[in-house]
Amino acid sequence: MSTSIARYAVIGDPVQHSLSPLIFQLFAEQVGCILDYQAIAIKPWDLRYALGRFCEQGYQGLNVTAPLKEKAFSLMNGRSESAESAQAVNVVCFNADGTLYGDNTDGLGFINDLSKQQKCVVKQRSVLVLGAGGAARGIMKALFSLQPAQVVIANRSLSRAQQLAQVYQKESCPVSSVTWKDIATERYDVVIQATAAAIHGEALLLPTGILNPGACCYDLVYGKAHLPFRRWAEEQKVAACRDGLGMLVEQAAATFYLWCQKSVDTTAVIQKLANT
Ligand code: NDP
Repeated sequence: MSTSIARYAVIGDPVQHSLSPLIFQLFAEQVGCILDYQAIAIKPWDLRYALGRFCEQGYQGLNVTAPLKEKAFSLMNGRSESAESAQAVNVVCFNADGTLYGDNTDGLGFINDLSKQQKCVVKQRSVLVLGAGGAARGIMKALFSLQPAQVVIANRSLSRAQQLAQVYQKESCPVSSVTWKDIATERYDVVIQATAAAIHGEALLLPTGILNPGACCYDLVYGKAHLPFRRWAEEQKVAACRDGLGMLVEQAAATFYLWCQKSVDTTAVIQKLANT
């Protein structure tokens, strides 16, 4: 009797840079299971039909990356609390009855990684979040659970930052939105880079002199695309600058648990990827 191999994919555009296929392969090896996990480019306007095709082809789940997370949210039949609070979906589960369930593990990935970074403390510190897309939405609830003193959201299009700040007005610390040119009106202790500028090969024009002494930086982007932000952070003499590899592995581990009900050793995977 032949057993079919569980099929999964990460979808986005662009998506060929994604490390997710390798990460899921390493997880599968750790727990001794076999799965088929691919990276598939999908345009936003194709998403609705693509989800139907994946379901027909027997896929069991998808990871969703930029720029599809918010659109995917709108196409789900059911959603987790974290997806609702993010208004964005990074995990799709196909139910046996053909309905779609959306979850969001970005916040969990962010907080699990950040909790290991002793030099990057958020509690009672002033935080600048760059970007207001799906990734920024995904980490916001987790960020507030770390009790910052204030959160300022800066985005290229101000309206998106304003909408995001509005959602969190009832949090216990002040939340505001600024345009890119107004970033420099304050100083910050933590800068979280959550824009997609680098993956589009675009420069992120950040002012100098906006950090308090001992400030740290956290970039959601990893690999070569992280380097321009790291360069800026180092020029500002930050205490620490973390790339998005740890968060990527942690959110994938949370997804793997959702799909396969198995925990994995994320530190071993992060080390392996950092050395390749
Ligand atoms: P979205 O497409 O949803 O949002 C993109 C965001 O980037 C928007 O805020 C957009 O601003 C901004 N942006 C794009 N280009 C520029 C630019 N040239 N200058 C300034 N701002 C720009 O993408 P996501 O939010 O889903 O993803 C953002 C990044 O985070 C991606 O690089 C992704 O790879 C990374 N990520 C990493 C994760 C990890 O686990 N490490 C998890 C999730 C995401 P505007 O609204 O004005 O267009």
